[in-house]
Amino acid sequence: MPNTIYLDNAATTKLKPEVLDAMMPFLTERYGNPSSVHKFGADCNTACEDARRSIANLINAKDNEIYFTSGGSESDNWAIKSVAYAKRDKGRHIITSGIEHHAVMETCEFLAREGFEVTFVGVDNQGIIKLDELKAAIRPDTILISVIYANNEIGTIQPIKEIGAIARSKGIIFHTDAVQAFGHIPIDVEKENINLLSASAHKIHGPKGVGMLYIKNSVRLLPMIHGGPHERKRRAGTLNVPGIVGFGKAAELAKASMEKNNAELIKLRNYAIDRILKEIPYSRLNGDRDRRLPGNINISFRFIEGESMLMMVDMKGIAASTGSACASGSLDPSHVLLAIGLPHEIAHGSIRMTMSEFTTKEELDHTIEALKEVVAKLRSMSPLYEDAVRNKEV
Ligand SMILES: *Cc1c(COP(=O)(O)O)cnc(C)c1O
Repeated sequence: MPNTIYLDNAATTKLKPEVLDAMMPFLTERYGNPSSVHKFGADCNTACEDARRSIANLINAKDNEIYFTSGGSESDNWAIKSVAYAKRDKGRHIITSGIEHHAVMETCEFLAREGFEVTFVGVDNQGIIKLDELKAAIRPDTILISVIYANNEIGTIQPIKEIGAIARSKGIIFHTDAVQAFGHIPIDVEKENINLLSASAHKIHGPKGVGMLYIKNSVRLLPMIHGGPHERKRRAGTLNVPGIVGFGKAAELAKASMEKNNAELIKLRNYAIDRILKEIPYSRLNGDRDRRLPGNINISFRFIEGESMLMMVDMKGIAASTGSACASGSLDPSHVLLAIGLPHEIAHGSIRMTMSEFTTKEELDHTIEALKEVVAKLRSMSPLYEDAVRNKEV
């Protein structure tokens, strides 16, 4: 058994050796600026264009619809703010969901303070957006719908194609934060009527600090970063060549192994979920069992404090999370777990374990044994648990 088990792949993933190999020349001898006309530049430009093609291929986009950014957060900010500013004479109403990543949620809240109106559409108790509520929220002044493709905490996959069709029928721009879905599950921007899509390299075994925004050719969008003519005058700044090359390689590898990896991951995930629910009393699965990312496990344990559980499994060499990396350290329970209807005390006792293609059954078995121990220990110290047992509430 390795001395560490990494089950926090929704926060970030390990760089694949093949990705590092692809990047290495561009961190050393191939250092040209892709905007330069000489051979140094042209060489790097070609490498970036190859990466752009691999990334476009993964979502059935055209090469010239991919714009490189510094990551998922920048892509989300760019998409939402620039639609808001470009369309503000047409309308000021934005629709999003109650289970967005902070990069979308905080951007929408910022715009709300700037005079836009934001409707947060609810989800059902499985974490799937309520389409009727979404439809009912649409107004003549609605300019944007932004819904996360697959949730980073509970892994639920949204009915993106249906949302795309609704947005299209009303002539509303549709953005999706696909950072957790891109390279993990099949995406087709054409079939799903997606106008804007955010993705990030470090969630698919690529490097940190690079991502992309897909902008459908028919969508006009203001630049967020002004300056030189890079990225077709929409995002200024010398390209992050090593990062982009690594992103392209990671996308290529993801495409080649997605089907096989997912078949394996789904088996492992269901095995782990079944064992935990069966072997640890008063536990529940958060998020839809089937419409969820292949690598996501999110469980609540009653009478337990999630942060304590995390620290105790960390001491056993197991890296997991209570939800989003940004939310940890704060005392508020996850907005996603509250949105699916969990009471505060149960939301607080939740743990997220996210796997990758490198996760093994042996690691999961070891983790489940550790969880059993930790949960029993924490409950033995919990007055709430003792009261509940005494009063035969459980
Ligand atoms: C990680 C993540 C982001 C942020 O991406 P960065 O590249 O880290 O800025 C945005 N949305 C979701 C759903 C994520 O999981």
